[in-house]
Parts: sequence; structure tokens; C-alpha cells
Amino acid sequence: MKHEILDVVTREWDSALYNQAVSTFNRVAEHMGLDENVAERLRVPQRAMMVTFPYRLDDYSEVESVFGYRVQHVLTMGPTKGGIRYAPDVNLGEVAALAMLMTWKCAIVGLPFGGAKGGVRIDPFNLSRTEKQRVTRRYITEIINFIGPNKDIPAPDMGTDAQVMAWIMDTYSQQIGHSVPAIVTGKPPALGGSEARREATGRGLVSLLPLAAHHRGVKVEGARVVVQGFGNVGRYAALAASELGCTVVGVSDHTCAIYNRSGIDVADAMAYVEKNRVLEGFQGGDVIDGDDLFKLDCDVIIPAAIGGVITPEVAEEITASIMIEGANGPTTPLADPILNDKGVLVVPDVLANAGGVTVSYFEWVQDLQNYFWSETEIVGRLREIMNKAFDEVMSIATREKTDLRTAALMKGIRRVADAKLARGVFP
Ligand code: GLU
Repeated sequence: MKHEILDVVTREWDSALYNQAVSTFNRVAEHMGLDENVAERLRVPQRAMMVTFPYRLDDYSEVESVFGYRVQHVLTMGPTKGGIRYAPDVNLGEVAALAMLMTWKCAIVGLPFGGAKGGVRIDPFNLSRTEKQRVTRRYITEIINFIGPNKDIPAPDMGTDAQVMAWIMDTYSQQIGHSVPAIVTGKPPALGGSEARREATGRGLVSLLPLAAHHRGVKVEGARVVVQGFGNVGRYAALAASELGCTVVGVSDHTCAIYNRSGIDVADAMAYVEKNRVLEGFQGGDVIDGDDLFKLDCDVIIPAAIGGVITPEVAEEITASIMIEGANGPTTPLADPILNDKGVLVVPDVLANAGGVTVSYFEWVQDLQNYFWSETEIVGRLREIMNKAFDEVMSIATREKTDLRTAALMKGIRRVADAKLARGVFP
């Protein structure tokens, strides 16, 4: 009976990514023997808001309506935290799934937050800067009572950046009547943004590469790395990997994929993208079919673009012995066992890309205290948190004889479940 009701409830959030997140959660919850009362609460978000709003195009006579979302998965752990995504196909179910992943991510690295996520269904590449500003200000105005520095703190995600965060901070502060830097993270440093936030996800991810390489017996110096996605995560992951001495043999974005056997000059590629917005036309290697990127002969692959790209078919073709997930939800549940059977060490999203939200946490703490840390302090503390979480997850995996995704989720879900059981049910 209880399950029939739940099936109806979960239809509200129906989407490929949500079904993927719930099916992985169910598998791990069962493995842990999680209390079904707690499991039922954790399968669905606690709060969700959907808005529609108009924005004026640069051609002043044109007005378009768009959909916006903000979902808060769990309010048990403290304020909720998570990015805002601008994408042409984003929907309530996708945002709900990503909010759930944020809950596990924060719990795995021990941050005092529940998970949240927001989205606006719009193509950011088709917006001028002024249009993007109007969309952002109106979206924040629509959800203004839902967020707050002690309630729910947004951050960048796909299609948004430090400038969008600056407009969010300004819009919120204008309404409240004074500056509230702690309302959002990933801001420019001039507004109370943290040093090293922009690079944090990529750097945090690559700080796990030597640990994973050690487990697989791969030599870091000269290890061949392929990165899918050249946004905020992919480009800094590629840069950090090359700084470590790895050879970045493949990179891609939504316009093209580039291969260079002797190594792509990542700084050159970054400078090119800074100028031209996309990788297309970059001369630092041969153009290959995007579908062939993960088939390249290499040691480490880093999917850092969108969800659902590592399907069973793709998994079969992978030659790398390590995969470190930069994107949220890049691997479909059916691909996971294939990778495990092939002996690919998969460092899951909820652990691998937690560096972003970790430095967001540092930024929030600095804003609340009006006391700012040096870049060296931030990078050192980030590495310490990431390495500790990796070691803990690895020891759970060894003890439980599971893969790292199961072990990481066991750690995250356990922490949230313990907090829920300790707080009890109100009233
Ligand atoms: N959007 C990022 C993520 O998926 C960062 C969230 C944050 O910094 O709050 O982890």
C-alpha cells in the first residue's frame, strides 16, 4: 500500500535523471537496510517551487515567458545549498534529482547543508548579457521568499557564472535594503566571493586523481586524460591534470571534440575559449567525432558536461581504468555494473565534484563572518576535506566490498538518516 502511494507521488518528479537518482538510492538503501520510514521521506523533496515569469527581449517590444524552479530536498541538516542551472530542457524532475544529489554530496564531505537546486528553462547561449540579467533578476524576485542566507543559498551550475551570482546578490540585497553577500556563493571576489571558488570543482576533482591512480597502479606523470566538457568544471580539471604532469589527450565542448596524442596545451585551449566562447576552431589537435571521445586510448576519463552520457554502450567501449565524474549524474544505473565488471575505478559525482560546494561553504562562512581567507588556506582546506572524504569512502568500499558510488552514498545517506532519526517527527 505504502509503495503504491509512493509510485503516484514520484510521478510528480518524473524525469530520466530523477528515476536514475531514485533507483540508485533504492539500491543503496536496501543494501544498508535503511529504515523504510526514513527512506520514504528521502525519496521525494521536502519543498519545491515552480514559477513562470516574463522577460523583455532586447527588441523592447518582445516579451517571452519562461519556467523557473527551485527545489529543496532536505531541511534537516541546516540551510539548503545548490546551484542554479540555465538550460533549454531543464524541468522540475531534473532539478529535484539534482537537489537530492546535493544532499548526499554535502553529507559525504561533512558540510552543514541539505541539498537544493534551481533552474530556468532557457538557452543561455541565445541570450544577450542584458537579457540574461533581466531573466536572473526576475527569477530571483519570484523565488525571493524561498531563499535566504540562513534558508537556501544558491550558487553557479550549468549555464550560470559569477556574473549571474553578482546579479542575484544585488537583486536580493536591493529588496532587503542592505548588502547580503551570504545569500549566494560563487560571486566575484569584489562582492565577497571566495578566492579559488571558480577553479574549486575542477581542482578538487583532480586532487583525487593521484589517490585513485595509486589504487589502480597508474603512474600520474604522463597519465593520459580525456575530459568531456570545457565549462567551469572541465576546463579547470583539464588544467589541474596538466599541472600534475598528466597528458590531456582529449577535450570537448558542445561544439566539437579535439584529440592530440602528445597532449593538448590546456592553457592555450582556455585562452581560445575565453576569446571565442567555444572550442570549435581551436587548432591544438585533430577534430574527432564527439561520440568517439570516450573510446580514446587513455588512463583517466573525466565526464564534466551533462548527465546520462555514460550509457551501457559507451561503458563497453571505455579503455580507461579510472573515471572521475565531474558532471552530476553522468553514468546511467545500467552502465555502472559494466564499468565495475571491467575493473574501471569510478569516483562518483557526489564525491568527485564536491569541491565546488565545499569552497561555496567556505565562501558562505567568510561572508557571515566578514573575515576572508587567503587562497593558500582555501586550497589547503579543500584538499584536506576531499582527501579525507575519499579515504573514508574507500575504507567503506573495502569493508562492504562495494564500488565507490555505493560506499559514498552509504556514507551520505547514513549521516542524513541519523540526523532525521535524532530530530524525530514533528509534531
Ligand atoms: N552546482 C554545484 C554542484 O552541483 C555547486 C553547488 C554549490 O556550490 O552550492 O555541486
